[in-house]
Amino acid sequence: MGKYVYFFGGGKADGRAQMKELLGGKGANLAEMTNLNLPVPPGFTISTRACQEFYTHSKRWPKGLQEEVRGNMTRLEKLLGVKFGGGEKPLLVSVRSGAAVSMPGMMDTVLNLGLNPESLATLSELTGNRRFGWDAYRRLMQMFGDVVMKISKDAFEHELEEVKRAFGKRRGIPGVEAMTHETLNKAVPDTVLQINELQEVVRRYQAVYRKHTGGEFPSDPWEQLTRAVDAVFDSWNNPRAVKYRQLNDIRGLLGTAVNVQAMVFGNMGEDSGTGVCFTRDPASGENKFYGEYLMNAQGEDVVAGIRTPQTIDKLAEVDPKAYQQLVGIRSTLERHYRDMQDIEFTIERGSLYMLQTRSGKRTIFAAVRSAVEMAQQKLITREEAVRRVGANQLNQLFAPVLDQDEVEKAEEAGRLIASGLPASPGGACGQVVFTAEDAENWHREGKKVILARTETSPEDVGGMAVSEAIVTARGGMTSHAAVVARGMGTPCVAGASELRIDHAEKVMRVGDHAIKEGDYISLSGFTGKVYDGQIKVQPSEIIQVQDGVLDVKKSLLYQQYTKLLSWADEFRRLGVRANADIPRDAERAMKMGAEGIGLCRTEHMFFQGDRIVSFRRFILVAEDVKKFKQELADAGDNTEKKAEIERKLAEPLAQYNRALAELLPLQRSDFEGLFRAMKGRPVIIRTLDPPLHEFLPQEPENQAEMAATMGIDVRKIRDAVASLHEFNPMLGLRGCRLGIVYPEVSMMQFRAIVEAALNVAAEGVKVRPEIMIPLVGKAEELKLQRDLALEVIAAVTHERKLKKLPFHVMIGTMIEVPRGAVTADEVAKHAEFFSFGTNDLTQMGCGFSRDDAGKFLGDYVRMGIYDYDPFQVLDRSGIGKLISIACELGRKTRPDIEVGICGEHGGDPMSVEFCHQVGLTYVSCSPFRVPVARLAAAQAALKEKAAKKAAGKKSRKPAGKRKK
Ligand code: PEP
Ligand code: MG
Repeated sequence: MGKYVYFFGGGKADGRAQMKELLGGKGANLAEMTNLNLPVPPGFTISTRACQEFYTHSKRWPKGLQEEVRGNMTRLEKLLGVKFGGGEKPLLVSVRSGAAVSMPGMMDTVLNLGLNPESLATLSELTGNRRFGWDAYRRLMQMFGDVVMKISKDAFEHELEEVKRAFGKRRGIPGVEAMTHETLNKAVPDTVLQINELQEVVRRYQAVYRKHTGGEFPSDPWEQLTRAVDAVFDSWNNPRAVKYRQLNDIRGLLGTAVNVQAMVFGNMGEDSGTGVCFTRDPASGENKFYGEYLMNAQGEDVVAGIRTPQTIDKLAEVDPKAYQQLVGIRSTLERHYRDMQDIEFTIERGSLYMLQTRSGKRTIFAAVRSAVEMAQQKLITREEAVRRVGANQLNQLFAPVLDQDEVEKAEEAGRLIASGLPASPGGACGQVVFTAEDAENWHREGKKVILARTETSPEDVGGMAVSEAIVTARGGMTSHAAVVARGMGTPCVAGASELRIDHAEKVMRVGDHAIKEGDYISLSGFTGKVYDGQIKVQPSEIIQVQDGVLDVKKSLLYQQYTKLLSWADEFRRLGVRANADIPRDAERAMKMGAEGIGLCRTEHMFFQGDRIVSFRRFILVAEDVKKFKQELADAGDNTEKKAEIERKLAEPLAQYNRALAELLPLQRSDFEGLFRAMKGRPVIIRTLDPPLHEFLPQEPENQAEMAATMGIDVRKIRDAVASLHEFNPMLGLRGCRLGIVYPEVSMMQFRAIVEAALNVAAEGVKVRPEIMIPLVGKAEELKLQRDLALEVIAAVTHERKLKKLPFHVMIGTMIEVPRGAVTADEVAKHAEFFSFGTNDLTQMGCGFSRDDAGKFLGDYVRMGIYDYDPFQVLDRSGIGKLISIACELGRKTRPDIEVGICGEHGGDPMSVEFCHQVGLTYVSCSPFRVPVARLAAAQAALKEKAAKKAAGKKSRKPAGKRKK
C-alpha cells in the first residue's frame, strides 16, 4: 500500500509538474501552479495508480484509498474553514479526470458535488443568491445523471425545454411551442430562467432520475463523491477514450487521475465568468494572447461549443483587473514551463482562479513557429526547439490550400456561404456528410468527405479522422471540433453560424439555399470561409516557394521551416536520401533536402510512354529465347540440330535484342536526368525487380488492345500471361533472379547507367552512380550480377577509349531476404554497400504477405500481438534483429561498408530512431517524407545525447529516482 492522494493548497503541494505519470497532467500542473503561488482553488489528486488498482480489484477502491480521501477532505475543510456538503459554510467540489497525456473531452467531469437540499439552503443564504444555488443544483443533477448514472442527456434536455416553453408562453414569446431546440435556446437562454423555473427543472430532473434508476437522487455528499470518482475511473475505458488513445497512439499509461477541487463559480452573475486561453495562437503560433471566455457561465460551457464565446481581449473592457492579472499569469507560465500553455480560468465575483494549465495542443504551423520564435527569444535552446516539433506531424506542412484564383471567382459568383473561425489550417474540397458514421461509411467507399455538424462531440472522433475537413455551425476556437481537428491536422472551420444544419434530414441551409448530403463544398481552415461547390486545392505555401511561385520573403512559414530544419541538420548523424524514380521526383527530393537517391526503382520507368511496348515485345519472346539458347548449348556438336535450333531462335532473338536496343537509349536518358538533377550526390539505381507478369495486361479488353497496338494475335498474349503465371509471385521469378535468368536485361541496365554517368560527367556535372542488386539471398547471386556489371563497365570503358572511368561505380545489394541478412558476411564480399529493403524483409521475415496482411494486421495490433503494423513501423525485436545481425556480419567482412535503408520505414520517425541506434549511414524515403526523416534523425541523436547525459549524472549520484 502506498500513497494514493496528493494535496494541493495554501501555496504548497505534495506533487509537482514532473509527476504527470502519477498525477495526470491536470493534477501535476495544479500542484505546480499552487507551488508557484498562483490563485488555484485547493484540492487533492487521486493518483493514476489508484485507477490502475481500481481495475485490478474488479472496480473497487484499493485498500487505504477511502481513508486517504477522507483525510485529505478534512485537510481541505480546515484550510478553507468549510464543511463538505453541509455545516455553516458548505464546501462543494468538482471531480475532474486527467491522464498523463491530455485527452480533451474524452473522459468525465462532475461539478458542484456536495449540493443537497440542506447545503443548497445554506449556500443561498450565505451568497444571498438563491437563483445561483438552484442553477448549480440542476447542473449537478444533470451531470451526475449523465456521467454517473448514464441517463441520456436528452432526457434532461427535454425537461429543461418543457420548462422553457412554458416560461416563453407566460412571457408571450410568439411561436415558442413549435420552436426547435436551437431557436428555443436563443429565445429563452438558461440565464433568463428564474428561481421558480429552476425549482421546476429540479423537480422534473428528480422524476427523470427516479424513472431511470428506480431511486432518489443521492443527497449524501460522500455518496455523490464516491460514485463520481468511480465514474471518472470508469470513463478511462469508455469507447471514445479507447478510440482516442488508439488514434493518437497513446499507450502504456496507468489510467486517469481524479482531481477533487473546491468549486469556484463562474455563474454567479455578470461579474463572474469562465474561459480558456492559449499563451500563443494555437493555429498560427503567433506570439499573442489568445483565448475566449463567457461571462456568467460554468465549467464546460466554453469548450462545449453551445454558446459562441467572446475573444479574450474583450475581457480587458469588461473586467480590466482580472484581465491584467491573467496577462501576468500568461507570462509567468510561459517563462516557467518554457512552452505554449493552454489555460483554464474562472472569475468568481471579480476574483480570478486558475483551474488548469497544460502544454497547448497546436497545429504543425504553430509548432514550428512557436519553437523557432521561442529559441530566438532564448526561452528555449535550439535543441529543445528541434525536439519539440512532432516529426510525424511535419508533412502536414505540405498539405494543400485552396487555389486563390478560384476562391476569388467563387466569391464573385456569390458562392461564399458561411464564415466561421479558422480553427485548423488547410484547404479542402469534398462531399458533405452530416454524421460521423456516414463519414466513415463514405470514406470506406473511397469518397472524399467533409463532415458538417452543428457541433462535434467525442463520439464523432472516428468520423472526424477520415474526413478531409470539418465544419461546425457552433463553437469557438477551443470547441471540441477545433481542438480535435488541430490535433489530427485536419482543416476545420468552427462556429460558421450562418449554417443551419439538420442532421436528421441530412441537409444544411443558408438562407433559402439547401446543401444536401453528397453535394460538394470547399473550405479554408486558414480563413474560416466555406464555399458552395468545388474549388481546386493547390500546393502548400512551402511547395509554392520551393517551386518559385511564391517569393520566399513573403512566406514566414517557409523561412521558419527552413530554419528549424537547418538546426535539425546540425544535430543529426544519419544521412537522408530519397526514393525517386524520375527526374521530377528527384528535383522535389532535393528541394526537400535529400542528400542523394537511395532507391530508383527502374521498373517504374518501363511503364512510361512507348517503352512499355518495347518491354512487352521482349517479354513475349523471352521464354523462347531462353529455351532455344539452352537447347543450343545442349546440342553439343550436332551441327544439323544446331542449325535447326538456330533457325527457330533467329526471329525471337531478333525481337529480344531489338526490344532491349530500343530500351537502352530510353533508360540511359532516364538516368542522365537523375544524375543531372542530383548534381554529384549519390544515386542508387536498382536493377529490375518485379515479376514479368506485372508488365502484361491481365484483363481480356486490355489484352486485345495490346494485341492491336503490336499487330499480333491476342492468343500470343494470353499464352504468355498463362505461362508467366505464378502461384506466389512475390517469392517467384523476380529481383536478381530475373537478371540471372535473363542476363541481357541487367546488362542493358548496367550499360545505360554507365553510359548515362559518362555523358553527364562530360557535361561537367559530378556523378556518383551506385548499382543495386535486389532480392539477394545467397552471395553467389550477387557475385554473378556483380561480375556481369564489371564486364559491362569494362566494355564501355574500352568502347569509349578510356583507361578507367572518371568516377567510381559502387556495386551493392539490397538486404531484403532473411537468408541474405543472416549470411551478410558472405554477401559483403561482393557488396560495397547494403540497403535494407524492409518492405520485403518484413514480408519474408514475419511471413506476412505485403498484399494480403491488411486483412488481419489491424486485429493483430488491436490484440497487442504487434505494437504497430510492422509494414509501417519497423518491428524492432524481429526484423530489427535481422538488421542488427546483418550490419554486424557485413562490417566484419568489410568494416567501411555503407549501410542504408530504403523500405517505407525510412520515412517513419520511430523506425528512423532505430536506424540511428544501429548506426546506419542513411535512411531513404519518399521525397515528401525527407523533412520528416531529417527531423526524426536529429531527434534520435538528441534523445541519445540526453540519455547519455542522464546516465552520466546517475552514475555520479549514488541514489536517485528513476524516470521512465
Ligand atoms: C523493399 O522491399 O523494402 C523495397 C524497398 O523494395 P520494393 O518495395 O520495391 O520491393
Ligand atoms: Mg523489395
